[in-house]
This record gives sequence, structure tokens and C-alpha cells, in this order.
Amino acid sequence: MVDQDSYLHRGDGVRLDVVVVGAGLGGLLAAIGLALDNHRVTILEQATSFGEVGAGMRIPPNCFKILRRWGVDITYLKKTYSNGNRFLRYDDGSTLADMPHGVPELDFGGSYLMVHRADYHSVLLDRARALGVVIRGGHRVEEYDWNTPAAIVQGGLRVPADLIVIADGVQSSARAAFQGHELPPTDTGDIVYRILIPGQDLLSDPDMRDLISQPWVTSWCGPDAHVIGYPVRGGEVYNVVFCCSEKSMQDRPFQPGENKLVISDNSELRRRFSDWEPRVKKLIEHSGKEFLKWRLYDLDLVDNWVYPTGKAVLLGDAVHPMLPYMSSGAAMACEDAAVLRKVLSTATKDSLQTALQKYQSLRQPRASKVQKAGRVLQEAYHLPDGEAQRDRDIWILKDDERNPIYWGHKARRQWLFGHDAEDF
Ligand SMILES: Cc1cc2nc3c(=O)[nH]c(=O)nc-3n(C[C@H](O)[C@H](O)[C@H](O)COP(=O)(O)OP(=O)(O)OC[C@H]3O[C@@H](n4cnc5c(N)ncnc54)[C@H](O)[C@@H]3O)c2cc1C
Repeated sequence: MVDQDSYLHRGDGVRLDVVVVGAGLGGLLAAIGLALDNHRVTILEQATSFGEVGAGMRIPPNCFKILRRWGVDITYLKKTYSNGNRFLRYDDGSTLADMPHGVPELDFGGSYLMVHRADYHSVLLDRARALGVVIRGGHRVEEYDWNTPAAIVQGGLRVPADLIVIADGVQSSARAAFQGHELPPTDTGDIVYRILIPGQDLLSDPDMRDLISQPWVTSWCGPDAHVIGYPVRGGEVYNVVFCCSEKSMQDRPFQPGENKLVISDNSELRRRFSDWEPRVKKLIEHSGKEFLKWRLYDLDLVDNWVYPTGKAVLLGDAVHPMLPYMSSGAAMACEDAAVLRKVLSTATKDSLQTALQKYQSLRQPRASKVQKAGRVLQEAYHLPDGEAQRDRDIWILKDDERNPIYWGHKARRQWLFGHDAEDF
């Protein structure tokens, strides 16, 4: 067990100058962890203003416990505590299964939260700044000198360091150099529409109000698609994501190189989900005027997380992009940060390579397992009506490894949520 106050403990190793590339959730978490051990941390972020997309996300207990230890203050973060997962049939809305979380604090050592991404990003920014992390916006890293090492920013500015932590996301421009060959992320074939609906709109409709008043993560499962929704900001907002295979859309597919689009009417969604139950259709009617459509990518296993010189390392989506269906991508980045912090706490400049290899060996198998579990869920959620779907609907009710829903099996739940990334 890790001492609850251990975030106050400063590492015994030398103080390193660390440059973190990317101020997404992964980059911020890495910066916080390292700053807690008195390393001097600078984040270089290409965007001129810091933020996150307008959408919800979940913070599972395996991440929550790290945030708490690291003194990330969530007092004023508007949050919703999740009841668990509820699965419904797509056409009549009948319940396939309820999978309550029970008391996650007791079972897994941390709460299970549903939040707005921008709110979460903002508390991490506050914590990083309070710890003295320097955050430079408008600094797009164009090149690396892997030996010094140094990050070279657009315009030619060289930012030297002892270590570079690269958290530049799914489309990472650095990943290829680590592998010695191109390694673009894999197109999973799925796209998502991410939408926020004012909670009041649903509360005033008797058919919809339970979606707010009973904070389940609700998933409607149907052929080639699923719709997932949950309240955030204590019910002020309902976050809903329409997920479907791109081939099942009647509308214009993404063009090569296009990954995200702003959509300004809901006609695509109306057509795609025309035979889904009334509540799904109502969610579409509430979808507002502008929302995001994303193409989803992942990668199975990235061989090299550590650059051969031992002075640069990958973290977060840059090294383990995954389908969002396990709602664990950012939680995995949080675990990365925790492990990185700990291996570096006793490292010297000369032993960086060994410490970073340990980071990879601890993180790679677990992140890869979660990534693969996302693919299993993709198949289970999107089954067409038929024998496999009928089987799914039987096994979904059993605490058994044949339950196709990850959280339906207690041992798997424990493995995912009970994990303590700092306990090694
Ligand atoms: C629909 C959806 C739902 C999800 N839900 C959840 C959930 O409920 N729970 C969960 O844990 N995870 C969830 N995830 C996954 C989670 O969003 C990601 O895993 C996480 O945001 C990755 O963070 P990151 O910092 O690694 O990458 P990013 O958030 O992509 O950040 C990368 C940053 O690097 C910057 N950057 C890129 N290139 C450069 C450069 N050359 N120079 C400087 N800066 C650069 C970018 O501007 C960006 O700010 C979801 C994902 C999706 C798509």
C-alpha cells in the first residue's frame, strides 16, 4: 500500500530539467508528478490557449487515487459520482444489464467521477502552476535533438533539458523517430459525435429525467453502433456520444487526412439512428447547433517508448492511443505519469536509461491490455441482432470471464480499478 501522504515525499534522486511536450491531460499529469519531486518542469504546448474539447469524461478510481495523493484539489470541480454502467437495447430501450460500481472508495480505493473535460483540465493546470511548472503556449515543437537533448520550437528556439517527456497525443509527430519507422495510428473504423445537452432540457421531460437524476453511464447497444450518455457537472449537463462504424453511415465519409469536423446540424444523426428507441431520438433533437464529429484511432503495441539515447520518453495517447470505450485513455496517461515519477525519483542523470526502461516494462503490458479490451467492447457493443447478440445478452448478466462487457467480471474490474500505479 502507498502512504496517502507520499505526495509530500520528494524523490531522493537528482533534480532534473524536464521538458514536457503537450499540455493535454497526459502532459499536465506528468508535469505535476515530476514537479512534486522537485524536478524543474517546462511544458511546451502548440496551442496558444489551454483547454479541452467541450465534452464529458470519466475519472476512474485507479486515476482518482493518484490525483488525491498528488494534492489535485477537486473541491470546486463540478462532478457527478457514477452509479455504474447500464446497458440497454437500441430499439426498445429494455435493460440488458445494470452493473453498479457499489462503493468504489471501499472496493478500489478511489471514487468514480464523471466530469467536464475542460473543468478537469483546468484543475490540473492550477495544480501544475502552483507547483511551479512553467507552461509555454504557442510553442510548437518541430524537431528534436535527441543527444543533448533539446526540443526545437517553430521559429528555431532550442529548449535544452536533461529529459524530454513527449505527450503529443494520438497523432504524435515524435513516435516514428522512437521506432525508426513510420507508425501512424490505426483507423478503428468507428466515428463519434460528441454532444453536450443542458440538463434542464432533460429534467423537464418525464421520459428523460432519469438520465440526469440517476447518474448511470447508459449505453444503448445496437447493430454497428452504440450511444453512451451520462450527466456531468452535477447534472447541469448531459454528455452524450453517438458511436458508430463509419461504413454504417449514409453520409459523406471523412476525407483522407480529416480527423475532426464541426457539425452544424443533426440530420446525419437523425438518419443514422432513425430506428432507435424514442429516448435516443430525443437526445438527437436536443443536440444543439454545433458539435464535434471525430474519427477514432488506436494502436496495438508500440515497441519503443524510450528513445535509444535514454533522454526522451513517450507518454499518454502518443504511445498507447485506444478506443474510448474503456473510458481509460487519460487514466492510463495518469498511471504513466505516476510510474514515470517513481522510477525517476531514485534515478541519476547516468541511470536515466535504466529508469525509463523500467517505466516502459511496467506500463506497456497494462496499457496494451486496456487497448485490446477496447476492441473487444467495440465488437460486443455493435453486434447485429442474431445468435451472437443473444449470447451476449445472456452472458452480460453473469460474473464470468465470458461476459463480453469488461466490467461485468469482478476479477477484471478489480484489475482495472483496484490497480495502484505507485505501488511497486
Ligand atoms: C470520445 C472520447 C471519450 C473519452 N473518454 C475518456 C474517459 O472517459 N476517461 C479517460 O480516461 N479517457 C477518455 N478518453 C481518452 C482521453 O481523452 C485521452 O486518452 C487523453 O485526452 C490523452 O491525453 P494526452 O495528453 O496523451 O493527449 P492529447 O490530449 O491529445 O494532448 C496532446 C497535446 O499535445 C499538443 N501537441 C501536439 N503536438 C505538439 C507539438 N508538436 N508541439 C507542442 N505541442 C503539441 C496538443 O496540442 C495537445 O494539447 C476519451 C477519448 C475520446 C475520443
